[in-house]
Amino acid sequence: MYSGDTICAIATGMAGSGIGIIRVSGDRAIEICDRIFVGRKKVSEMETFTAAYGHIVDPAVIEENTSDEGFDGDNGHVSAESGINNRKMPDMKEAVIDEVVVLVMKAPHSYTTEDTVEIDCHGGVFLMEKVLGLLVREGARVAEPGEFTKRAYLNGRIDMSEAEAVMDVINAETESALSASVGQLRGDLREKIASIREEILYNTAYIESALDDPENYSLDGFNEKLAESVERIDGEVKRLAQSFDEGRIVREGIRTAIIGKPNAGKSSVLNMLLMEERAIVTDVAGTTRDTLEEYARLSGVLLKLIDTAGIRETEDKVEKIGVDKAQENIKAADLILFVADGARPLDDDDKRIIRSLAGKKVITLINKEDLPVAINRTELDALLKEVFCGETLDLTDGKTVSADAKRNTTEPHILTISAKEGQGRDELAALIKEMFLAGEAKGNSQIVISNERHKNALYDASQALGRVKESLENGLPEDFYTIDLMAAYESLGLITGETLADDLADKIFAEFCMGK
Ligand code: GDP
Repeated sequence: MYSGDTICAIATGMAGSGIGIIRVSGDRAIEICDRIFVGRKKVSEMETFTAAYGHIVDPAVIEENTSDEGFDGDNGHVSAESGINNRKMPDMKEAVIDEVVVLVMKAPHSYTTEDTVEIDCHGGVFLMEKVLGLLVREGARVAEPGEFTKRAYLNGRIDMSEAEAVMDVINAETESALSASVGQLRGDLREKIASIREEILYNTAYIESALDDPENYSLDGFNEKLAESVERIDGEVKRLAQSFDEGRIVREGIRTAIIGKPNAGKSSVLNMLLMEERAIVTDVAGTTRDTLEEYARLSGVLLKLIDTAGIRETEDKVEKIGVDKAQENIKAADLILFVADGARPLDDDDKRIIRSLAGKKVITLINKEDLPVAINRTELDALLKEVFCGETLDLTDGKTVSADAKRNTTEPHILTISAKEGQGRDELAALIKEMFLAGEAKGNSQIVISNERHKNALYDASQALGRVKESLENGLPEDFYTIDLMAAYESLGLITGETLADDLADKIFAEFCMGK
């Protein structure tokens, strides 16, 4: 069991608020709080998971102002009888710092697994710091960022993936980011990794036993079983690693580029997307917008909009936006919103743009539906199908073949909208959800990796498993398998923390916010 100093921190933000919570954790948490809290009961007399009303007092002031009466100098506790409401002790008033509620959670059933006291005081920063100062004077130490969670980890209550999920939960900005991190916090990833590691360990142990004790453990036919097991495990590891991109999308937003020929309505589409946000930040809109990254929130999906300044520039400086820049944006995007002008015929510009989008996730927005239609839908549909569904006419034998390399959807995604009238926004949101968060829409509890560290560990594990497969194919001796199996085992252990070096763990916790 890890045991260290008793730590304390302001757990709520460092800005004035109605209530502020100060958290104290460690062997001496209760004793230290007893020294500064005056209520109907001592903190040490409270049942676990109960709260008590009372006052935070400065024991030094009481000591100065009073005789021994009513104040137990031995443990610094001001007893209930001599409490602040006791008229016999007018001096106590001067010692009062705040009116509070304390909550006691005794070891091992607390966040850190240690004795923990939470003090709900008023949320003024000066006040909270004063209470913190008292706690420090009475023997606690100010916690480092993430130290409460680090203790939960070191005391074995949570693994590293769950510890990291704590910060993701705090930082989640969308429904989907929240549900992904809550899943991780719940231990979904820990369980998955544990079961994979167990299987690897079993295989390794079996080989080693067979090598040591061939009479009782036979390797006959084992290679086939091992090959099957490694193949399946590698599949799972790869799937997890691949979910990283989805995880990034969930956390940071879908990188979205709006592309289209001049006057198609890109700027208007942008404004339509920013509608909700603009409602919140009316004052700054327009002023800071060109330099900042812009985000649009569409019914719970976050879009990170690429090069919005470029889009605005096109209004006056059509020439300025170079082809290279557009290509760069296309490359960096998870999603392309291709804006076609429905009130003008399809032209070479449109065609060129469409062709440059092959291999990307694209939604074609046929804009200006409020105006008479001039675009040729049949021609547009055919072109989109060709580029996005790989349906091209193979001239050699006249049959339609599908070019898998180009394929990215079964049907091109097309919506008719009127950016000017805000028509089609909901449909667009629904479509984006379907394209990017299909798993969640179906209520699928698929695990999503949202942490680069985890992705790298999964990648290394998969490489090692690949080497096992190779050794099996080449008929190499069994000890070769065990080396690589153990390498995969170690890599996966980095995710849960089992094989993580202390200094790396420290680095991870240092990224946390104060009080967590
Ligand atoms: P951009 O050059 O692609 O950014 O296009 P803009 O968004 O600046 O739009 C070009 C012109 O088309 C402007 O005059 C817009 O008001 C107009 N426009 C954009 N969307 C619509 C729409 O849905 N309906 C109509 N009637 N006009 C639109």
